[in-house]
Amino acid sequence: MHLLKISKQRISVIKTKSLYLQIHNEIIMIGILEAIQLVKENSKPLLIETTKPIEKSGSYKLYKDVFSPINMPPFRQSAMDGYALYLHDSLSYNLVGEIKAGDSHQPILKKGEAVRIFTGAPIPDTANAVMMQEKVLVKGSQITLESQININHNIRPIGEQVKKGELALKKETKLTPAAIGYLCSLGINNVSVFKKPNIAIVTTGNELVEAGEALDYGKIYESNSKMLQNALYNLKCYDVSIHKVEDDYDKTLSKLNEVINENDLVIISGGISVGDYDFVGKALEELKVEALFYKVKQKPGKPLFFGEKNDSLVFALPGNPAAALTCFYIYVYIALQKMMDNPDVELPRIKAKSASKFIKNGDRPQFLKAIYNDGEVSVLEGQSSAMLQTFAISNAFVYMSEDLSNIEIGDTVEVVLLPV
Ligand code: AMP
Ligand code: MG
Repeated sequence: MHLLKISKQRISVIKTKSLYLQIHNEIIMIGILEAIQLVKENSKPLLIETTKPIEKSGSYKLYKDVFSPINMPPFRQSAMDGYALYLHDSLSYNLVGEIKAGDSHQPILKKGEAVRIFTGAPIPDTANAVMMQEKVLVKGSQITLESQININHNIRPIGEQVKKGELALKKETKLTPAAIGYLCSLGINNVSVFKKPNIAIVTTGNELVEAGEALDYGKIYESNSKMLQNALYNLKCYDVSIHKVEDDYDKTLSKLNEVINENDLVIISGGISVGDYDFVGKALEELKVEALFYKVKQKPGKPLFFGEKNDSLVFALPGNPAAALTCFYIYVYIALQKMMDNPDVELPRIKAKSASKFIKNGDRPQFLKAIYNDGEVSVLEGQSSAMLQTFAISNAFVYMSEDLSNIEIGDTVEVVLLPV
């Protein structure tokens, strides 16, 4: 295996934190905490402006303050189905007309006159209160109120929500469905937002075939690309392209060169281990991708690479599907949250009571596929990094640190909740 050079920055982290566990030639296997720290330190918010049609702006953050182009409501609006009144001392009024939502006529009322009115309809300038219909007795063109009402009752004044030119939403507000509805109500159809990362997923492996193709001897169906793509969609990253390369150095080099130049984040699957046909490490070095770490003392996912070139981040995940997805949740997840400037960069960690036993082999800290429910967690059978069957039904990892060799029923364990 070609050795990746460790950057100066990386060495300073090692010196200052002394968290590394093993130095072998130039390859340093680091601990989980240090690897997480390196991802946090080297992933930055993108701070690039882009424009989105309002209907496609969900979960983006506003790049600029938005000022209202109109008064909202734009006219004095009825908040009720009822009667708009020109108030006077008596409870009786003469009914002189009707205004529905969407109407634009403006009857002129005299004191003691009323018009039938409906929710959302414009209130004549001469009316100064609306009585809800449930509190009105109607007899022909005469109406009688149950009781007196206050001036301006059930009238939404012009600009009550926001006035023309006023700040409608602040820069960096996340565009939730409510925020999108609000901006639509102001007639806004395009918004300036912070760009989200564009991401390339690159799978490597001669053995991989697509669903629908013949599964010839020696081949397996490719699963990591769509799995990772959906993990990205779950995090509301939709600008994702998928690329496939064979286990060939030149093809790997040219594909990685192309995607690193064109994307904010590149996620490579497989080919980063120590086999004779693992070309990713050599290609990344040739492309002068600065290695921030390579190899993490953990199970699954030891052969994990993280590096950067110019403004692009590169993760090379192990090809084994469960290892790839574990590394996605523990490391790539953080990089994405930082790039999108989200406050919670790591998945939630909680303590829970174990409902199962587990014996750990070896000394690497381990992320175990598990089911968490209401304060209790069960570690599942089938923890192989090659198997997704267990992962498919889990909603959490149980984290077993280096010094923990077994879990007993009733033990308090650390749990990472997955975004499922
Ligand atoms: P590698 O990291 O390339 O040595 O691959 C490790 C294991 O993961 C091998 O058994 C591969 O066949 C498998 N693998 C690699 N990439 C994928 C993929 N995209 N989909 C499914 N399995 C894969
Ligand atoms: Mg491979």
